[in-house]
Formats: sequence, C-alpha cells, structure tokens
Amino acid sequence: MHKNFIAGEWVEGVTAGLNINPSDTQDVIGEYSRADAAQTEQAIESAYQAQKTWAQWTAEQRSDALDRIGTEVLARRNELGELLAREEGKTLAEGIGEVVRAGRVFKFFSGEVLRLAGEKLPSIRPGVDVEVTREPEGVVGIITPWNFPIAIPAWKIAPALAFGNAVVFKPADLVPGSAWALSEIIARAGQLPAGTFNLVMGPGSKVGQTLAHSRKVRAITFTGSVSTGRSIGMTCMERGAKVQLEMGGKNPLLVLNDADLELAVSVAINGSFFSTGQRCTGSSRLIVEDGIHDQFVAAMAQRMAALRVDHALKAGTDIGPVASQDQLDQDRHYIELGCQEGGVLYAGGELLRRDTPGFYLAPALITQTHNAMRINREEVFGPVASVVRVRDYEEAVHLANDTDFGLSSGICTTSLKHATDFKRRSTAGMVMVNVPTAGVDYHAPFGGRKGSSYGPREQGSHAREFYTSVKTAYTLA
Ligand code: NAD
Repeated sequence: MHKNFIAGEWVEGVTAGLNINPSDTQDVIGEYSRADAAQTEQAIESAYQAQKTWAQWTAEQRSDALDRIGTEVLARRNELGELLAREEGKTLAEGIGEVVRAGRVFKFFSGEVLRLAGEKLPSIRPGVDVEVTREPEGVVGIITPWNFPIAIPAWKIAPALAFGNAVVFKPADLVPGSAWALSEIIARAGQLPAGTFNLVMGPGSKVGQTLAHSRKVRAITFTGSVSTGRSIGMTCMERGAKVQLEMGGKNPLLVLNDADLELAVSVAINGSFFSTGQRCTGSSRLIVEDGIHDQFVAAMAQRMAALRVDHALKAGTDIGPVASQDQLDQDRHYIELGCQEGGVLYAGGELLRRDTPGFYLAPALITQTHNAMRINREEVFGPVASVVRVRDYEEAVHLANDTDFGLSSGICTTSLKHATDFKRRSTAGMVMVNVPTAGVDYHAPFGGRKGSSYGPREQGSHAREFYTSVKTAYTLA
C-alpha cells in the first residue's frame, strides 16, 4: 500500500485505489491510498504549522534541499521513466524524458532560490527609502492532471518550496505512481521540516475541493480541464486566495505553401500524436494553405501508417496507448462527431488489438473540416488532428486566433516575413516557428491566454510571481 505523507509520517488513506497499466489492463502497478476531506484537513494543518519554520530556512538550505531531490530524480531516470510509461502509457523514451525534465526543474529552482532579488527605489518624498521585497505566500495547494504525472508536479512543487512555501500536493487520481515516487524522494532526500511537504492522494471532489475551500491554503495552483479549473478559480476568488490555472488548448499549427514539406510533416506528427496526443499544447488544428494541402495530407497519412502504436514499454513503439477507457471513449466520440459534422476520416482512427489488452487507438487525421465545427472548437485530448484548408496566410491567421483557447500555436514556413508576423499576431501564450506546438524548455515561462490560463506564468524565473508575495516598505531614514 502506497500511503499519503502527512506531517512527516506515511499514513494510510481512508480508502484505496488500484493503479492500472493502460498498455495492459491486467497489469496492476500498485495500490494507492485515498484521503477524504478530514485527512486533507490534517495535511493542510500540518503545512500551516510548518510554514513559518520552512520560510526561516536560509536560501542556501532550501537550495541544497532542492538540489538533493533533483539529483536523486535524475539518477533514477530509467526506473522512474519506466514507472511513468507503465502507468500513463507514454513511451519509455518519453517517460524517461519527462523524468529528466522533472529533475532539471528541481536543479533550476535550486539555483533560483539564490537569485531572488528585491529592489530599492528613490522615493518621491525626501528622506524616505522604498524597498520592494518578496516573501513566501504561505501554504500552497497543488492540484495536477494525469498527462504529465511527474513533470507538472515538479514544476509546481519545486518553485513552491524554493520560495519558502509549505505544500499540500494532490496528484491526479488516475496516475498516482510517479507522484508518489517523487513525493517519497522529496520526503526522504529533501530532509525538510515535518509538515513542509504533504502528499494527499484521492478524488478531486474530496481532496481537491477541501484544498480549494480551506482558508489556511493561501494559494492554489491547478493544471487540468477548463471546467474544473474555472470552478476552483471561482472558489478561490470568493475567499480571496491566489490562484493559478493552466487548462486546455485547441492549438493551431499553420502550414504555409512555402513550408519545407518534410519538416512540416515531422512537426505535425510530433505535435499532434506524440505522447498519444495527450498534451495540452498538442496541435489539434492543422490549418493548411491551399497550395500545399493535398501533398501535406498525403504525406501525413504515409507517415502515420508507419507509426507503431503498441505497449508503451516495447522497443520500437512510437505511440503508446490512450491513458484510460474514459479518454479512449472521448477520443472515439470526437472522431465520430468530426465525421458527422462533415469531416472525412482520412487516416487512422481505428481501435487496435495488440498482444496485451490496452487502450490502443491509431492516430486519426480528419480532413475537410472547418473552424466552426465542434471538432475544431473543443479539446479532444487524444491522438486526433483535424485539417482546415485555407486560401491564404491571412485566413490562416484569422482562424488560428478564432478560438476560445490560447495556449500554444505554431507555423511551418520558410518566410521570415510570415514567421515574424505570426509571432506578433498570434493570440497564444507560446508561439512556435518550425518546431512542434508541444515541447518547451523548463527555464522559459509557460502558459497561455484566453480560456487556457489564468494567473501568472509557470516555470523559469517567472514562476516567482505566483509563489511569492511582493512587499513594499517605506522608511523615513
Ligand atoms: P481534470 O480537470 O479532470 O483533473 C485535474 C485535477 O483536478 C486532478 O487532480 C483531479 O483529481 C482534480 N479535480 C477534479 N475535480 C476536482 C474538483 N471538483 N475540485 C478540485 N479538484 C478536482 O483534468 P485531467 O483530466 O486530469 O487532465 C486533462 C486536462 O488537463 C486537459 O484539459 C488538458 O488540456 C489539461 N492540461 C493542461 C495543461 C496546461 O499547462 N495548460 C497541462 C496538462 C494538462
């Protein structure tokens, strides 16, 4: 039994759940505790009590703690990457890559602790000093989704701890394994004061809601779906808590007539289908200029036919299974819907049988769609991409921005003029030129606009905006 970690102790949950391998549903990864509201309250109280002690640790002590955690995560990349691939379904290479990213995030924030600077301003009044400093926010509640089971927890937990905040971490119910392994490393290698870091596994309706409502949780950082994010946002707003929401995407990738066709196909295949398309930054709308459209979709279909969809841990697998039966049902529902709306299933989209029972779906390409269709307005969150044919660049930019979301966008072009113009006019938080819409650096700000995100950016030095509170002090010298 994998237990919750509260007040420096491993404690059994009120109930427990099984973690199942989506590549082989007969493979049970383990049993994981699930808390209720009362146990979550205990974790919040322990964080609340530890907050002051943790904030008083010196920057160097906090830096060292993060460094120890990052070192162990990186050293165990293969083992943790395998666990991640086994529980979530991304390939082993993708799993190891994600673990490395998580380790690097801890290393980055280990350095960032020591770079926290304030400001001293000239006052408009004689003899007065104005100082601007940053302080910890207080207890931070961290709620994460299932699609990046170790990287997203890492990029929230590391800055939270770095800047002196105690943490209550609630991972996704579907994939508690990587979150538990990371928490075990933090609990042991971190050598933090008891209560500074708490792991509370369990359902969003109980654990997540308790965090959102607790007056002792000063800030909530959430990544997940739009509907859950908005409701958490409203709850936090009502009680005046700080909130950061990273939600869905409907990310466009523009392919212009002057694109390098081979590169554009690689960029689209990666952005739309790698990690089984289960990335908030995935390219789900391929907006293709008329002159290259037919060649592009034919080349896509050819490359898709060569992709190996199989067990996530098998050598040679390009794309693992969908993460769960629910997600598989959703993917198939949207493929059907796209066709009912007038789209054509040009390639893939069928269920696949493999040696082990799992949620295997051939990546799907739907052509002849237009931007008003639901398939182009709602997030599918699977290996499903639709193609919108446009007559020129202007129409492409217009459609790219014609969405409620604004997380990532991309363009494949050899024209500096179009690349520059698109970087200016895209209404997404992240813009990619000739690289996939998904896949970002851990030291650069991450986040979106419009319905995709709310609150300050995550990652890189921008992370301090959320995890610290600014204080302005005036002194008559
Ligand atoms: P989800 O909203 O169902 O769950 C996210 C987390 O919230 C989970 O831990 C869940 O248990 C918890 N939760 C659920 N209901 C809750 C409630 N009522 N109160 C409090 N917590 C609750 O999302 P998911 O299905 O795990 O993840 C997929 C979604 O995440 C997609 O929409 C995807 O786009 C999004 N996502 C966004 C980003 C980003 O950075 N923008 C990154 C990854 C995933």
